[in-house]
Amino acid sequence: MASNLEFVRFPAPDGVNGWWESLPPAPPAVAVTAEQHYDWVVVGGGITGLCAARRLAELAPDASIALVEADRIGRTTAGRNSGFFVDLPHDISSESYSRSVEADKADVRLQRHGIDYVRSVVKQKDIDCDWRDDGKFHASVNRKGHAALAHFAEGLARIDEDFEWLDAAAIASVTGTDFYEGALLRLGAARFSRRR
Ligand SMILES: Cc1cc2nc3c(=O)[nH]c(=O)nc-3n(C[C@H](O)[C@H](O)[C@H](O)COP(=O)(O)OP(=O)(O)OC[C@H]3O[C@@H](n4cnc5c(N)ncnc54)[C@H](O)[C@@H]3O)c2cc1C
Repeated sequence: MASNLEFVRFPAPDGVNGWWESLPPAPPAVAVTAEQHYDWVVVGGGITGLCAARRLAELAPDASIALVEADRIGRTTAGRNSGFFVDLPHDISSESYSRSVEADKADVRLQRHGIDYVRSVVKQKDIDCDWRDDGKFHASVNRKGHAALAHFAEGLARIDEDFEWLDAAAIASVTGTDFYEGALLRLGAARFSRRR
């Protein structure tokens, strides 16, 4: 499959997480010892581990559950991401971000279910995280980028998803910069920011 991405090399992580550093200090970590016993132990406190532990607690409210994280929760990859919940196919190795119509539609259903679940938790627990159902802009800076967006648009049209094209002036009025030559707006994605 052809790719529209070209890398000379990937950046090497330096171990510093700007999001983490910009937050107030975290409370000291609690160590788990070999003498302690739990009904369930979830290994890894990234998004997957956090969700698994939470769901387990919902399904088995009387069980004891330990969530074990080798670093600190929020300082590893799950705490470095951009805070977007994307509801669309996002296969970045594919020119159109998509796979097959069936697989893309299944992706959308699954991802929307996940977003609805997290939104309901944010609401129910009154979590102050600047949750916004803003959608997502995919912007391009040159002809090559525009071609990639056009492929993406074709993929969206194939699965009957709405999108909107913005010209240079329209995206400049959103971002405040004339850096982009155009953009594609997809409503449906949500975003949040970090709080401790
Ligand atoms: C720069 C960047 C931007 C991104 N932006 C987005 C975005 O906007 N939206 C989005 O949906 N995704 C985004 N992603 C991808 C997303 O962050 C990952 O898909 C997600 O973090 C995967 O979660 P995970 O829990 O499966 O794995 P991880 O986040 O890797 O979590 C695994 C955890 O397990 C811990 N661990 C590993 N081994 C052990 C062990 N033996 N004992 C205890 N703990 C252990 C690790 O320390 C880690 O904390 C982005 C990623 C990056 C790097």
